[in-house]
Order: sequence, then C-alpha cells, then structure tokens
Amino acid sequence: MTDCLFCRIAAGEIPADVVHETDTTLAFRDITPKAPVHVLVIPKAHFPDVAALAAADPGLAGQVLASAGAVAEAAGLTADGYRTIFNTGGYGGQEVAHVHAHVVGGAPLGPMLC
Ligand code: 5GP
Repeated sequence: MTDCLFCRIAAGEIPADVVHETDTTLAFRDITPKAPVHVLVIPKAHFPDVAALAAADPGLAGQVLASAGAVAEAAGLTADGYRTIFNTGGYGGQEVAHVHAHVVGGAPLGPMLC
C-alpha cells in the first residue's frame, strides 16, 4: 500500500532508525518515544491491525512477537521488564493503520499508554 506510512518505511522510501530486521519483519525506533526505549515492530506485509494479522497469517504474527522479544533482549530490557502493546482502532489509540507492536521500557512504566 503506497499510501501507508509503515509500508513506505518497510520499503525504504521513508527513513527510520532500524534496530532489528528479518525477512518478514522490521523494528525501528518510534519518532516520538514515550519511554527511554520505544521501538515499533511491524510485519513488512500490510495488515491493518493485530486481529487481522493473526486471522490471516498466525505464523507471521508469531514472527512479529519473536522480533519484539529480540528487540527487548538486545535493548537490555528483559531483566527489569518491559511492555509490548498493540493498539487497535480509534478508541484503542491506533494512529497508523499498519499493525505494529510497541516495545517500551527502560524505566518504570506505570499506567502509560502508547
Ligand atoms: P499507534 O498510535 O498507531 O499505536 O502508534 C503509532 C506510532 O507511530 C506513534 O507512537 C508515533 O509516534 C509513531 N510514528 C508516527 N509517524 C512515524 C514516523 O514517521 N516514523 C516513526 N519512526 N514513527 C512514527
């Protein structure tokens, strides 16, 4: 989808600070971080939200989760803990309609929302 921001990042058309990549996933730093570590993990293929991804391709959903775990491990978040968040739809606070996991940590998070 050429009009999708995260598809364009996945295609290399828009720059991003990439921290992890596989054949099927890409992880890059959020442009407006809400915590010391705030990384977005996407499938390179377009799905609007996590439910659509899991329904269409559960294997790819697992690859996104595995990439989120790898990002957390590489960022040194696993000892103290961190949060993995999928926002969905308007009430869920989803601004970009290309499924993405927020990996946030590096400080106590409290009730923070992404
Ligand atoms: P959502 O609200 O959809 O769950 O999260 C979208 C996230 O994408 C937000 O945290 C926002 O800061 C981030 N974001 C929006 N535009 C860009 C961009 O161009 N580059 C990067 N790296 N992050 C972006």
